[in-house]
Amino acid sequence: METVRHVLASFHELALKGAHRGKFERVLRRNISRALAGLPVADISIPARVTIRFTDDLPWREVHHRLDTVFGLNALLPVTYVGRSWEELEAHCRAHAAELARGATFAVRCRRSHKLFPLTSEEIQRRLGAVLRECTGMRVDLSTPEVTVRVIVQSDGVYLVHGRWPGPGGLPVGTSGRVLVLLSGGIDSPVAAYLALKRGVTAHFIHFHSQPYVGDASVRKAEEIVALLNRYQGPSRLAVVPFGQCQQEIVTRCPEALRVVLYRRMMLRVAARVARRWRCQALVTGESLNQVASQTLPNLAAIDRIARLPVLRPLISMDKQEIIDLAERIGTYELSILPHADCCSFLQPRHPTTGVSAAACAAAESALDVERWAREVQRQAQVTYLQPLPWPSPRSQPLRAWA
Ligand code: ATP
Ligand code: MG
Repeated sequence: METVRHVLASFHELALKGAHRGKFERVLRRNISRALAGLPVADISIPARVTIRFTDDLPWREVHHRLDTVFGLNALLPVTYVGRSWEELEAHCRAHAAELARGATFAVRCRRSHKLFPLTSEEIQRRLGAVLRECTGMRVDLSTPEVTVRVIVQSDGVYLVHGRWPGPGGLPVGTSGRVLVLLSGGIDSPVAAYLALKRGVTAHFIHFHSQPYVGDASVRKAEEIVALLNRYQGPSRLAVVPFGQCQQEIVTRCPEALRVVLYRRMMLRVAARVARRWRCQALVTGESLNQVASQTLPNLAAIDRIARLPVLRPLISMDKQEIIDLAERIGTYELSILPHADCCSFLQPRHPTTGVSAAACAAAESALDVERWAREVQRQAQVTYLQPLPWPSPRSQPLRAWA
């Protein structure tokens, strides 16, 4: 497995932000530092691309794993720093010719953002091509080369590129405001949280449980999911809210078919209160259109009617399989499928309605004092402050360095 000491990372959307670029870069740099905490980072600078330098060679797989949690980074390039001049680039390539000669034909591709460098990209390509032809015996083939030698010239130095991995994309967490995620412990809401974080928000979380009617498995699960998601953003808060009594009240006093929509409206009322206290500007749920009875357009409209904040639904148009694929990729799937008693499967109606109006919900809720219940449920919230899940410590066996 290859090791790296330098990594370059590109960021498209940031570059478009004009006047805000300074702030975006500051936040991005902070997020990268957090993701790399515990690794021997020498410095992080942003001359053109993000440039990360370590004091030691590190396994690329581990560095990549961590940088894959930094939204805003589009492409990740493990590189070797060869110096600041053409002479140093030439000397490096001559010294490592054997490692560069991995095929019969080759091409050199150069990108130069440092416009004061004495050679143009074409000149570097031509000169380096001649050097490599001479010392490796490879033939030049510009259309379908077996080996592509990539060179990047930035104001801080000249780099040889060893590969290009896709980054996580999106915007740096901390540049788009703050949201409160309704986190159930199912498959969907952690993915919704991930997608919200990807657009640059920071997130706090709220989880409703049905204790004492069911055990605390869903709470443990919510904590683990939040810790995993916190790798993308740093520490956050989780409000754990006992919802069983309120559900019992809805079951006793309201029509059975409306239950799930009424539970959800009540959750949103409580969540809006917590959001206000924590200065969150929107709520996020894992709802997807028509996935289940409570997620039809009329039901979503009836739920939204009482929302005092925008309700973001990042999964709205995703198929279940797409959601599962993403959950597997980000590692929440394994946690989500652990068994737990969901507070909404508890006291489920046999025939939930797929088309309730907000007026019908309001009429049903007139049997409850909804504001008092929302206040009461919020009062019982227990708040924990959760750290990101720690990274496994880097392996220390000697590894092969890239040329
Ligand atoms: P999930 O997989 O996220 O549980 P789901 O497909 O099971 O979603 P529902 O059970 O209808 O769908 O829940 C829809 C959304 O409502 C969830 O994605 C979540 O945002 C919110 N929600 C549901 N139950 C809870 C809960 N116990 N605590 C917090 N939020 C919840
Ligand atoms: Mg659910």
